[in-house]
Amino acid sequence: MANEQRYTLAGIMGWPVAHSRSPVIHNHWIAQHHLRGAYVLLPVQPENLQAALRSLPLLGIAGCNLTIPHKVAALQWVDRVEPLAQRIGAINTIVVEADGTLSGRNTDCYGYIQSLLDAQPAWRADAGAAAVVGAGGAARAVLVGLLDSGATDIRLTNRSWGKAHDMAQEFGPKVQAIAWADRHEALADCALLVNTTNQGMHGEPPLDLRLDRLPSQALVSDIIYVPMETPLLAAARARGHTVVNGLGMLLNQARPAFEAWFGVMPDITPELLAKVTATF
Ligand code: NAP
Repeated sequence: MANEQRYTLAGIMGWPVAHSRSPVIHNHWIAQHHLRGAYVLLPVQPENLQAALRSLPLLGIAGCNLTIPHKVAALQWVDRVEPLAQRIGAINTIVVEADGTLSGRNTDCYGYIQSLLDAQPAWRADAGAAAVVGAGGAARAVLVGLLDSGATDIRLTNRSWGKAHDMAQEFGPKVQAIAWADRHEALADCALLVNTTNQGMHGEPPLDLRLDRLPSQALVSDIIYVPMETPLLAAARARGHTVVNGLGMLLNQARPAFEAWFGVMPDITPELLAKVTATF
């Protein structure tokens, strides 16, 4: 049994943060592994981010996750940023090291790729072209994950052309920017389609995308998890595609963070899935 003496505290820092499912996930693992500790909400306004991060070692907190709006801003306040997080341009996990310094990591990338592998263990990034819709913060983690997994042909389309263009320039020749008007046709020959926009999220209209050019064997993923089945995934399922929702990414990004703080790499069990699903 791991570390009976130590009480380990971690949490999620964001503003607003009350809606976060992360406490349900991490506290489930703490109980499952009979660890002493807790994972709490850390509501921190943007102007207090630096002070809040610097307080982590003083309060004896092992580290925290970061969510909206802190993922990019926190880069400047930590003592080191792992190269992967540097490329993504955002950190979602902070580890307080033994000497009190702060290390910034990004586990969203791992979470996304692992969610595809959980849904389709034989999935390979080099199986064919990938269409990525959206060029916001989450798209950067998805892009880096696909590139590092071996993708060679990524078609990136975004409502605002400039962001897709700049991101394609930044990530090199394997990423090609596609005009928003051409997004439907760009699905031809794709082995993977991923929605990284907020379209289809609860309260937002469905993603405006026709699937008729998408090959029937393509995997369709949406990183949104509220609702768990977006209109895009419902349409893809109706066409016979294997679909992956954003819950797998959320659960898998939490695993390496939990391991960093609590020393155990946790699993996604049916009990955990049921517990998180019950919060929707
Ligand atoms: P973001 O940086 O604000 O990016 C939003 C993206 O959505 C941009 O590409 C934006 O395009 C696009 N968009 C917004 N309104 C649109 C519209 N009407 N039509 C077409 N595109 C539109 O947000 P983010 O942090 O990347 O998050 C995006 C989504 O991913 C959210 O739904 C979030 O919940 C989800 N997410 C899930 C996980 C997970 O663990 N599963 C993790 C992170 C994020 P423009 O550039 O044109 O504005």
